[in-house]
Amino acid sequence: MEKTFTEEQRNFKELAIEFARRELNPGSRERERRGEFSEAGWQKCAAFGIPGITMPQEYGGLGLDTMTCIATMEGLGYACRDSGLIFSLNSHIWTCESPINKFGSESQKRKYLPGLISGSLKGGHAMTEPDAGSDAFSMRCRAEKKGSHYVLNGSKTFITNAPIADLLLVFAVTDKGKGFAGVSAFIVERGFPGFSTGSALEMMGLKTCPLGEVFLQDCEVPEENRLGQEGAGAAIFNSEMEWERSCLFAAHLGAMEKILESCIAYARERRQFGKAIGKNQSVSHKIADMKVRIELSRLMLHKVAGLKGAGKRAPLESAMAKLFISESYVQIATDALQIHGAYGYSAEYEFERNLRDAIAGKIYSGTSEIQRNIIATFLGL
Ligand SMILES: Cc1cc2nc3c(=O)[nH]c(=O)nc-3n(C[C@H](O)[C@H](O)[C@H](O)COP(=O)(O)OP(=O)(O)OC[C@H]3O[C@@H](n4cnc5c(N)ncnc54)[C@H](O)[C@@H]3O)c2cc1C
Repeated sequence: MEKTFTEEQRNFKELAIEFARRELNPGSRERERRGEFSEAGWQKCAAFGIPGITMPQEYGGLGLDTMTCIATMEGLGYACRDSGLIFSLNSHIWTCESPINKFGSESQKRKYLPGLISGSLKGGHAMTEPDAGSDAFSMRCRAEKKGSHYVLNGSKTFITNAPIADLLLVFAVTDKGKGFAGVSAFIVERGFPGFSTGSALEMMGLKTCPLGEVFLQDCEVPEENRLGQEGAGAAIFNSEMEWERSCLFAAHLGAMEKILESCIAYARERRQFGKAIGKNQSVSHKIADMKVRIELSRLMLHKVAGLKGAGKRAPLESAMAKLFISESYVQIATDALQIHGAYGYSAEYEFERNLRDAIAGKIYSGTSEIQRNIIATFLGL
């Protein structure tokens, strides 16, 4: 078990592993086949305290530190087969609950945080549009101030949790002439007039996480539901991404640890040509590379978590960690599948699901190419 964690943090990781095996895994394969979100699993995670780990106690959270959250996410990533549920929870935490806690007014926090922490409310954020993906700030969605309301018009797509969300943080242009500084964020409730969502989109992986379109047609949002100042959308979005690029990817680290253990065991026990397959260098070197990727992922992730936990910004560090961990996960899942041969390719084992899930990590929270662009910009290129 990881030595940079305190004993309490290690205990959280162990507890998360036991919890996932006992409460979240039963029936997960069938749910994955049916593409079914587990409401019961969500409620169990909420009762276990996952959405509230780092949230203030006054709103019902546990008030714990970032590394405890990282340890818990690693445990869930290691043991939970319902990876869509873990993704859905992370989106809820880092793109809705956490920005409301960081940028919200006292009345916004009192209104929304208790429900988001207890699990009675589900959240997410809506930035991407059909014609504005990586170039998110070229969005068309507009918010026009009319009296005590803003009127939002536009559509969003590929929004995690959209089909099940009670509220979404929606980004819209309030001042077209100001570029980045003309985008604002709004807490939009499902019941607001003019708000609707489409049915769940079918994706390659993370199948138990509902993801879909959002439509805003003259959607009336009270002024008090603007998060932060007018024009603060870019700062809010960048802050969200730094958190998501560290804490969400802790679950990937846990998943990679589990894959490594499975590969070591299989390479020792599977025999071909009269010897264990692990005695072939082409197999053992794949596993050695997995170990190196996992150790480096851990160092990068814990560095970002340490910076974020200390209240510091980490735009370069989170971009590097996100890029390295997401690409390592794809490579490790690919190699694990190869090491297990046809058994690896079979849906009976976890590796094909791991690979389908892993590929998404190179796209959401900013694609690999965009992370490289961010890193290059920091290098003055
Ligand atoms: C599982 C999943 C969950 C998601 N959840 C959410 C969510 O909750 N909320 C939300 O708002 N969005 C969400 N998204 C959308 C995600 O943020 C976008 O998919 C992502 O930003 C990329 O945009 P795009 O898919 O439109 O690709 P595009 O931006 O069209 O890019 C297409 C390709 O071109 C490359 N490219 C584009 N511009 C450049 C450039 N300047 N330099 C180099 N390469 C470039 C990209 O890297 C990519 O390979 C989710 C996506 C996925 C897959």
